[in-house]
Amino acid sequence: MIDFHVLGTSGSRPTGTRSVSGNYLSTPSGSIVIDCGEGFQDRLVKHELDLKKNPIGIRARISKIKAILLTHSHFDHCWGVLPFLKTMQLDGRTKPLTIIGPTTKEAIDWVEDNYGKPIPLGSGINPSDFSILFREWKSHLENNSNQNKFPIEWTLIPVDGYEPIQLLSQPLPNVHLSAIPTVHGITSVGWLISIGGSISKRILISGDTTKNVPSFNKSSLKGPLDLLIHEATFTSELSEKAEKHGHSTALDAAKAALDTNANTLGMVHFSPRIKDIEVHENEARKLHLRSMACQDGDIFRIKNDDKIILMRKDKNSWFEHDNQRT
Ligand SMILES: [Zn+2]
Ligand SMILES: [Zn+2]
Repeated sequence: MIDFHVLGTSGSRPTGTRSVSGNYLSTPSGSIVIDCGEGFQDRLVKHELDLKKNPIGIRARISKIKAILLTHSHFDHCWGVLPFLKTMQLDGRTKPLTIIGPTTKEAIDWVEDNYGKPIPLGSGINPSDFSILFREWKSHLENNSNQNKFPIEWTLIPVDGYEPIQLLSQPLPNVHLSAIPTVHGITSVGWLISIGGSISKRILISGDTTKNVPSFNKSSLKGPLDLLIHEATFTSELSEKAEKHGHSTALDAAKAALDTNANTLGMVHFSPRIKDIEVHENEARKLHLRSMACQDGDIFRIKNDDKIILMRKDKNSWFEHDNQRT
């Protein structure tokens, strides 16, 4: 069984009811974290315990994580990585972990020769590019020689253009990861995850992006999707603002679900100002009926018979959600 756990649905900053981006995917070959914003480990620990207490047959286990995939280096998507890795050290983890993030060739070259120096103005190198952040995080983790260390494979993906990028080596057996460049003002990718053998299940997580990503279509992705997790920061009346800031509306997300032939759309990354996300759902469903505006704690269960169920948390347990409307 494949379960996709949505652990943060707010864009930019947390609200009282929503946290910033972070997802946990469990597959038969191990688990993957996709984006890891501030406070991610706290949420995942609570989620793991809550699932353990509830006999719904779904679990999340930090020890099973084999890879962390990052979509871009805005802090609401990656600022939880270092404390999470520190905890893994404290917990005595020994299993290897792969961390993958997008960058540019220019940033890789600059860091190679100039790491530690101030970045020249106008160089186009982002001070929080993963080429720089990965080095910093690595040195934090390796600094204390007394501490337990586990092997980390730091993988930078140089992005150039919009063609899907195939990884040279795959961290999980029977799982194929590809990075799909998106449009967000800084180097950014979505992650296409194909799981399994003969009946492959395919999930795409958009990260932050504006509409009309060149490779978000059936032919570039070489087949339909089971689940598309797409940002929908705003609804259509703010479409200009969405485009200006490199974000999408609910309608844009639904259009991407149509273009990629996705069975189910899960919308995330809502502007903290938005109170009623039912408007998102209604807007998206005009184009794509199986569209859900996600809540923190939602679990998409992708069954072997191709059925996808959304389990939603209510009080202290999870219940199948929204049968009638979809
Ligand atoms: Zn964001
Ligand atoms: Zn962003």
